[in-house]
This record gives sequence, C-alpha cells and structure tokens, in this order.
Amino acid sequence: MFKFTYVHYQDLLLELGKKFEILPVCEFMHPTGDKQVLILRHDVDLSLEKAAVMAKLEHGIGVRSTYMFMVNSPVYGDIDLAQNADLLYWFTHFGHEIGLHVMLDEEWEDKVETGRVKLEDVIEVPIKVSATGEMERPVRSVSFHCPTKEVIGGDVWFFPLMPGEPELVYTPPLINTYATKLMCCYVSDSAGRWRREPLEALIDTECPVAQLLVHPVWWGDLHMEPQERAYMLFGMLADGLSREKASALDHAFGKMMPSVW
Ligand SMILES: [Zn+2]
Repeated sequence: MFKFTYVHYQDLLLELGKKFEILPVCEFMHPTGDKQVLILRHDVDLSLEKAAVMAKLEHGIGVRSTYMFMVNSPVYGDIDLAQNADLLYWFTHFGHEIGLHVMLDEEWEDKVETGRVKLEDVIEVPIKVSATGEMERPVRSVSFHCPTKEVIGGDVWFFPLMPGEPELVYTPPLINTYATKLMCCYVSDSAGRWRREPLEALIDTECPVAQLLVHPVWWGDLHMEPQERAYMLFGMLADGLSREKASALDHAFGKMMPSVW
C-alpha cells in the first residue's frame, strides 16, 4: 500500500527524477535537458505550515516546484503575501514558484457567458498578490480549487489584468494548470488517495509534459488515512482557540474539505 509519508514522498520524487526533469509550472516550457518534463504543483488549501515542511524536504533533494496559495482561503485567512514575507521567504528562498490557487466565487455560474468563459468576470479576485522587496516577482501560474469543466482544457491561458482594479499587480500571462497541454498525463492525490499509484501512472507516459499535484495536507512523518489526517490537522489549528473561533474554523473546514478531496 502506498504510504503518505515524507519518506515515501522523497523516494517517489527521486525515482521520478530519473525519468523526468521536475520543474515548477512556470518553467515547463524551458527544460534544461532532453528529459520529459514533470511539473510538480501543490495546492495549499489548509495549512501554510504543512506546505513549508514539504518545501524544505524538496529543497533537501534538489527539487523545485510550485506552491499555489489560496489568498481567499476560509481556513488560513486573507493572506497578504507581502505581509507574510517571513513565511513565504522560505518558499522563494528554496527556488520554488509561488502561484495562485483560486476559488471561483459562488455566483460565477450565473456570470458565465455563452462560449468561452471570461475568467476575469467569474473569479472572486484575490487582492494584492504581489510580494515586495527581494521576493518581488510576478505570479505566473494559477490553479483552481474545485475546478469546473469550464476551466479545464483549452490553451495555456493568458489572464488579463482586471479592468478598473489598479491595485491588482499580477501581470499576464498566467498559466492555467488545467490547460489541455498540461493535462496530458495528470496525477493527483486529491482526497488523500491516488486513483492510480503515481509511479505506475507516470513511468510509461510519453507526454512531453506531465503533471503531479500533491496536497501537502495529506502527508506527514507517519502514514494516516485522510480522515484521520484532517482530524489531526483540525485539532492542531483549533488548539487554544476560543469556542467561537473554533466553531468558525470548523465551518471553514467543512467548506473546504469536500473540495480538497
Ligand atoms: Zn484546492
């Protein structure tokens, strides 16, 4: 049985590194060698701390990847990347890419026009994505929380600046990680389970670019079943909170969990 432990994760990457050049999303067009490319992406839905552990682990074996932060996460709040420079420094310091994990707003289906969806109209836009100072770099890639069929497939999208929202500082193009080109061979640990074990699924592919999505929240020093892992994490985050705040956290977890699956 596959174990969701850091040791197994490390072994998996080392094994995949023999076949692929493992890269952050924004570098998929620029491999340095002849190997097939594996873009390694992490959607950070629930815990920055869990993501930081994974970022350090990858750095230890010379792997760089993309961490997609959810600026409007109901669990870890409205992070302002600029104000979280201390924490985010560790991701950029290790050479990882910081991307954007976007939750489509609740009315977005009503705003969809016929034909091609205008993303800029349907996304509840996270604000102030830019980091400042030495971390300054544009956000280049985007992934969607609970992606719908309208955002899956299509080109590697160009994402226009929001009209009338000058405070938005990210610049086009943003790469849609669900673009057809990047979904040729796509393996994800959604729900804390692989539909097919990742090595088995990736090792024979001939796609020039494959993609592996790993949610840091499902991994730890010891193997746990997803429900148990979620329970533990909730306990950790709720520790010391007032009853009112714990209840709000519980609500946020309930909102997020079905779609971290
Ligand atoms: Zn997500």
